[in-house]
Amino acid sequence: MTKIYINGKFFDKADAKISVFDHGLLYGDGVFEGIRIYDGKVFRLPEHVERLYDSAKHIALDVPLSREKMTEAVLHAVEVNAKKDGYIRLVVTRGAGGLGIDPRKTTDPQVIIIVDDISLYPRELYENGLEVITSSFVRNHPNALNPRIKSLNYLNNILAKIEAVRAGCLEAIMLNVNGEVAECTADNIFLVKRGVLKTPPPHAGILEGVTRDFVIELARAAGVPFQETTLTRHDVYAADECFLTGTGAEIIPVVKCDGRVLGPGKPGPITRQLRERFHQAVRQGADGR
Ligand code: PMP
Repeated sequence: MTKIYINGKFFDKADAKISVFDHGLLYGDGVFEGIRIYDGKVFRLPEHVERLYDSAKHIALDVPLSREKMTEAVLHAVEVNAKKDGYIRLVVTRGAGGLGIDPRKTTDPQVIIIVDDISLYPRELYENGLEVITSSFVRNHPNALNPRIKSLNYLNNILAKIEAVRAGCLEAIMLNVNGEVAECTADNIFLVKRGVLKTPPPHAGILEGVTRDFVIELARAAGVPFQETTLTRHDVYAADECFLTGTGAEIIPVVKCDGRVLGPGKPGPITRQLRERFHQAVRQGADGR
């Protein structure tokens, strides 16, 4: 049975509870990570821990554990749940406080670790490719709520996700305030044009995905030319290949956007090559470090 970690103790699912006054619930005031376990090994845990503490630093949240203790807690939770392949949700909330946003009125930040099964996209979509839309919801401006913070406030993404689902798609491309491609609701985006792999830079307003970084490293190792560059909707429509990356998605090809067929309408050679290299690396327990 799943055992959920809350502040150093393990609880059954039904008993894993935190206060209704927690500002994580009341205001989305907190940060989180989504992490994969492949064959008993946690994928790029130091990178996830680092990003969690960077997110926390930005929102001035003092994580009540050191990075080392947090790492130990995650590994312990994986061990307690005896999970060989799965997904870890690591959450730090601001803690319970008053019914006002003032973080000074909160006490006890909550550290929660849920170890669960992984739910990927349906299998056939990895073979045949995903259809996406461009969302009408602009990705958060970096000076409003920087997408580099993996915060508990995902409403910007959820609004775009609702739009996608209503359009019969599972993902949506989100543009930034300048109309440039940023990322998808829970995935980063890559394009291939004339053999060059391209992805938007962090300042486009994206979460710097751990999978994104890994894919860039795999592409470099494979000798695939790579550019971190501004992309527009035109680049998506005119791309030879398109794929998304994320902890939950791994690498998933995109073959249609806003009703337009991308490239030849099936997963392209660079996408397939990178997917193969990705699977090979994680099967061998090699996360590139
Ligand atoms: N962008 C957003 C908005 C995300 O929520 C995620 C994580 N699901 C990603 C990109 C991909 O990041 P990672 O590869 O670290 O999972």
